[in-house]
Parts: sequence; structure tokens; C-alpha cells
Amino acid sequence: MHEALNWHQQTLAERTVDALIKNRFRAVYVPDKETALKAILDETAADAVVGMGGSWTTSELKAQETLEKRGNKVLNHNAPGTTPAEASVIRHQQLACDVFLTSTNALTLDGQLVNVDGSGNRVAAMIFGPKKTIVVAGVNKICSTVEDAVTRIETCAAPVNAKRLNRKTPCTHTGVCQDCDSPERICSVTTIMHKKPHPADILVIIVGEPLGF
Ligand code: SF4
Repeated sequence: MHEALNWHQQTLAERTVDALIKNRFRAVYVPDKETALKAILDETAADAVVGMGGSWTTSELKAQETLEKRGNKVLNHNAPGTTPAEASVIRHQQLACDVFLTSTNALTLDGQLVNVDGSGNRVAAMIFGPKKTIVVAGVNKICSTVEDAVTRIETCAAPVNAKRLNRKTPCTHTGVCQDCDSPERICSVTTIMHKKPHPADILVIIVGEPLGF
């Protein structure tokens, strides 16, 4: 990466960290995936039960494998072989876990987290329930405004996630949101976390390289 681009990404990330802290979140900037994974492990007790938010970013970090290897119990409703009934139980368990690990669809320079969710369990757990939530996001998810964040979700995050999940939705053909009425629509709920909810302990880790969609 050219050093000027590296400078630009780090500058935006650090500005976003400052804004998140003003909005009551804990927030840090780390340069790469390796330091992001270390920060997750440092924030997670070895005996903590960890809920996974269904994020490609945390998959890229190999977070689940690393936590399980260390001895943490991991609650993943997307684990291969999980039945719909079992996934429902796990989603409810995630709401009361020790650490909920997820990404965010977008975050803004003024420190807001913007997400669109299908079942709502991911955004619910981000807002209330787990003892601690860790949000990991690559610099590619930083947007100027909430409006830009919604555009990012409609033109990138949601269509790519729909494709990843093999959904039969119009965006998996056009590449951008068509505000569909498909029964397989993955966009049911939009949340904007303007400030950290008072009882919550939320750490946002911004990683200085692209991660997720
Ligand atoms: S609303 Fe439908 S078309 Fe739009 S991104 Fe979501 S699933 Fe795709």
C-alpha cells in the first residue's frame, strides 16, 4: 500500500475513534488483522462464553477458531449442521453471553454505528444484553455520514451478504438494493447507534486494512 493511502486510512480511522469515544464507546485503532485478533483475545476472559454475530470480518480474523482453541465456549448459530430450531436457541443464548463479537455494516466519521439486519438478533445483541460487545471493522467501512452509511449498505454490504448467503433476491443479480419484497429478503431492521446505550460495554476496534463487506 502506498504510504499516502496508509496515512489517509489511519487518519480517518483515528478521527472515527475519537468520535466514538465522544459518543461513550470504547474505541481503538489497530494497524492489521493480527493486532485486531490480539485485542479481541485480550478483551475476552479465557472462560468467557462468546456469541458470534454472523460476521465475515470475524471469520477473516479466524476469531472463532482461535477462541475455541484457547478454551472459550463459542455460540455460533451459523455453525455447519445447525438446525433452524437449534439456531433459534443459540440466538437467544447470544443475548445473555459474556462477550458478543460482531462487525458493523458501516460506521461514520462522527462515531455512529449503522446496521441492517434480517432476523434482528445481531443488532439486538449489539444494543442490549451481553456483558460486553466487541465490534471489529475494517477501514473500508468508514463513511462520512449516516446517509453515506446507508448507501454503503444498499450498494455493497447487503447485496454481497445476500449473495454469500445464496439468497434469491434481486440484489444478487443487480448488485445493488432493489428494496425487494422477496421472502428471502435479508434487510428487516435498520439501526443507528448514535451513542453507546448507557448500560452497555462496547469496544469498537477499527482495523487499518479492508475487512468484510
Ligand atoms: S432489501 Fe432485498 S434487494 Fe435490497 S439489499 Fe436487502 S435483500 Fe437485497
